Amino acid sequence: MYQPQYEAMERADLEALQLERLKATLERVYASVPLYQRMFDDAGIKPSDVRSLADLTRLPFTVKDDLRSAYPYGMFAAPLRDIVRVHASSGTTGQITVVGYTRGDIDRWADLMARTLVCAGATPDDVIQVSYGYGLFTGGLGVHYGSERLGATTIPISGGNTKRQVQVLKDFGVTGLGATPSYALLIGETALEMGIDPKTLPLRFGVFGAEPWSENMRRQIEETLGIVAIDIYGLSEVLGPGVASECVHKCGLHVNEDHFIVEIIDPHTLEPVPDGEQGEVVFTTLTKEGIPVVRYRTRDISRIVPGRCACGRTFRRLERISGRTDDMLIIRGVNVFPSQIEQVLTGIPGVAPHYQVVLTKRGVMDHVEVHVEVAPEIAFDEVKALEALRRTVAQEITSALAISIDVKLVEPKSIQRSEGKAKRVLDLRNEGGTA
Ligand SMILES: [Zn+2]
Repeated sequence: MYQPQYEAMERADLEALQLERLKATLERVYASVPLYQRMFDDAGIKPSDVRSLADLTRLPFTVKDDLRSAYPYGMFAAPLRDIVRVHASSGTTGQITVVGYTRGDIDRWADLMARTLVCAGATPDDVIQVSYGYGLFTGGLGVHYGSERLGATTIPISGGNTKRQVQVLKDFGVTGLGATPSYALLIGETALEMGIDPKTLPLRFGVFGAEPWSENMRRQIEETLGIVAIDIYGLSEVLGPGVASECVHKCGLHVNEDHFIVEIIDPHTLEPVPDGEQGEVVFTTLTKEGIPVVRYRTRDISRIVPGRCACGRTFRRLERISGRTDDMLIIRGVNVFPSQIEQVLTGIPGVAPHYQVVLTKRGVMDHVEVHVEVAPEIAFDEVKALEALRRTVAQEITSALAISIDVKLVEPKSIQRSEGKAKRVLDLRNEGGTA
């Protein structure tokens, strides 16, 4: 552990610290951010009304649109002269959201990222290659400062130029890698193409985040690179990477609860759900000065993993993000994420992870048909083999989603490709579509 005095705190001490920091945060945002003053006044609550952590649920939520409409500096709780760094995230709608950090924020962020790297097994003796992008995106500089804070040797290579990434990985004796999971896999595959088996290199671990990835993807990365791959989590509106991290036990991401209060809410009723139940992840920052957020709705779906972790950290754990509320489908009353289908498909030989979910009505019942591409090496005219494959895919998806579905196998490359976000779902239920 990097800061065991916090990471292994007793619950009662942690909650006392959280409450003290929460009160200070609420006073701060009420006094310096007009939006929060208005929101609290509308809800009829003053910062001094919050006397316990349970009172948090009386406070209004913050959403991404609040940050968008405050563009660029309207949500800042510190004067610009105290802001030493600005990052931003690009929204799918094009409007970016701007976040600012004071010197103190950068200092605490470095500590939290050092914690994250130690979670993956890093020590000051490591050589860490930062292949996340540097710039307005928080990934590159986030890992960079954490690695330097830890005292590791830091290589700020940023993203791109994959052959050079491999060369540096090999020549510089890199032992730890930070990248998006898909880029880590590409680096591994490029190494193999260059005749370098990454498994023979000193590389031991990687911290991967900034996009959702499945357990199968983890297995693929670990096998290709010969490393321990851990999932890290954060978003610029809350901090950037460093909000939560898996430890080497890989059983959920420890939330840095001395800096963030995590809640899981039902995205429809907005009521908190009990530990262990799935819902939308909501964060309140406790130490941010530049841009604190109160009950920020992330749209990410997860749940709190009950129980204690074998690593000794007492912070509660979030299960790996299983999807976004924007992607969630409700089919016959069951919450379904397209990413669950992807996870199944990547585990079945003979099919490609390209699919489309077509939703229609049969009478009053929802009907689901999943179109799945067969892999190029499968002969599309071998009817018997194809039918066996179709049945396997249908059984595996049905058991993963806990609802029955039909599967239709389609020819390679027949599902439309997208350069942006793939359109995975065709919902015809409200258009009189029948199957
Ligand atoms: Zn742990």
